[in-house]
Amino acid sequence: MKESGRKQGAAPPCAACKLLRRRCAQDCVFAPYFPADEPQKFANVHKVFGASNVNKMLQELPVHQRGDAVSSMVYEANARVRDPVYGCVGAISSLQQQIDALQTQLAMAQAEVVHLRVRQTASFSHHGFGPGSPSNSGSPSSKLMGSQAKPIFDMDMVVDHASFGESMWSC
Ligand SMILES: [Zn+2]
Repeated sequence: MKESGRKQGAAPPCAACKLLRRRCAQDCVFAPYFPADEPQKFANVHKVFGASNVNKMLQELPVHQRGDAVSSMVYEANARVRDPVYGCVGAISSLQQQIDALQTQLAMAQAEVVHLRVRQTASFSHHGFGPGSPSNSGSPSSKLMGSQAKPIFDMDMVVDHASFGESMWSC
């Protein structure tokens, strides 16, 4: 703010140069990615990677890749500040755990679907409908759902009758 009066002083120094207390040259490598109004963005990157390393990495990259590299470094730096031990690996492994848990749930739900279909097929043949149904591999599920889902559904409705009541009669 107090650096006015220089020739190029019209624009404020970028967040990096401001933090490093140096003059922000016109071709400053940081300026396009660390605007003055986001000081925290550079502060974390500087703390984790060091300004000269960031400078070096950006210089080694073609200009069109620098924006992505900066986003990546900012993400990693913020994660490292939040979690000094694991950094973004912490986020990755917690997401991986969620994936594992959800895949387990999915497998259990799919097993239950298979189980219900087998039960439906059993009651299907028990009632004597559609003699050749097991060999009809087209799409048995929709046919079964349509005609023979009732017995199981009725049982469920008895169990949570209370929660069903309102929505059943409101329409
Ligand atoms: Zn600068």
